[in-house]
Amino acid sequence: MERLIMHVDMDAYFAAVEQAEVPSLKGKPIVVCGFPLARSVVTTASYEARRFGIKSGMPASAARRMAPAAVFIESNPQKYIAISLKIVSILCEFTPKVEPYSIDESFLDLTGCPAVQPHGVAALATTIKKRIRAETGLSCSIGVGPNKLLAKIATEMYKPDGFMLIRLEEVADKVWPLAVEKLHGIGEKTAARLKQDGIGTIGDLAHIPPDVLKRMFGANGYLIWQSSNGIDHSPVDPAMVLSSKSCGHELTLPEDTTDQERIMRCALFLCDAVARRMRHAGYRGRTVTLKLRSADFKTITRSRTRSGFTDNAEEIFADIAAMLRANWLGEPVRLIGVNVSGFSSVKHLERQLGLFPRTMEQDKLVQTVDMLKDKYGDNVIQRASFLQVPSKME
Ligand SMILES: [Mg+2]
Repeated sequence: MERLIMHVDMDAYFAAVEQAEVPSLKGKPIVVCGFPLARSVVTTASYEARRFGIKSGMPASAARRMAPAAVFIESNPQKYIAISLKIVSILCEFTPKVEPYSIDESFLDLTGCPAVQPHGVAALATTIKKRIRAETGLSCSIGVGPNKLLAKIATEMYKPDGFMLIRLEEVADKVWPLAVEKLHGIGEKTAARLKQDGIGTIGDLAHIPPDVLKRMFGANGYLIWQSSNGIDHSPVDPAMVLSSKSCGHELTLPEDTTDQERIMRCALFLCDAVARRMRHAGYRGRTVTLKLRSADFKTITRSRTRSGFTDNAEEIFADIAAMLRANWLGEPVRLIGVNVSGFSSVKHLERQLGLFPRTMEQDKLVQTVDMLKDKYGDNVIQRASFLQVPSKME
């Protein structure tokens, strides 16, 4: 049976959240950046800011030069996660088969879903958009197709506030004219190489025999052939929530430091923030990654995969501290990052609960601290060692 897959993607998400919260920001160029603003990169630019050429990933200082009058806002991940969860819960009203794919994107498997029946999938998309806008003030773009690949390509064709449906028999008309880099898995470098060989569109790729593509791309060749022909069998898997995603925090220090104790304290601070975000979202992860950037911008990342899943700051910090001791050679540190990936959802974990025993007392304590912080703010309870972190960083 042909599947019916919907992709819902929020438009300029972080910037739109800020604009929805402060109406005077609507229609203005908004640039959401990391912390501290002056030394971070752009996380999301509103559509108004994109007109100045501002893109995600560029240094905030460069964005400032391009649009001095734009409003620069420090990103607030907890706020974005909370609204994300609200959006996912809205989507779950239409079908239980919702796979949150990133903080602002979800896939829905609508195959045989009663919500589609009365007026068709385009009408359902309109209903979903209206619901999300009514509850959050935000707009999204929706794509529909027989699989995740085509649904996502459809979404990207009309943004913002767009809707597009691609049927399998429309791949030649709607997908083949697109540039190769629009295909998932084809990066800028590969696209440039392909273009030199006269392969500019997805259609050009689709007409190359699979074994030639295997010679060109190795193991990925067959996958690229399938994708360029609109074929994708990957399931929408609500149990695999954010499995390919991660949760991380980075801190650019107010000044470079060689003080080991201070570095460890910052790392612990970050572990606590990451663990708390994971608990909010209901995720536990297995892979802990340390990022360390020295004053001369040399960056290293080191990862460890734990035997069990965790959302506990002490456990994450134990891995981070070990990696710091093994890899930091005493050079001045500019930035520290802590990231946890390899997620499983709590729901998924509950089914396998026997595999991941935790003590009740530990859980209770963590829940109580979270509750107090939610109610009274982050400063109500702090680890004793945080009290010595310079106020700038809190
Ligand atoms: Mg988006």
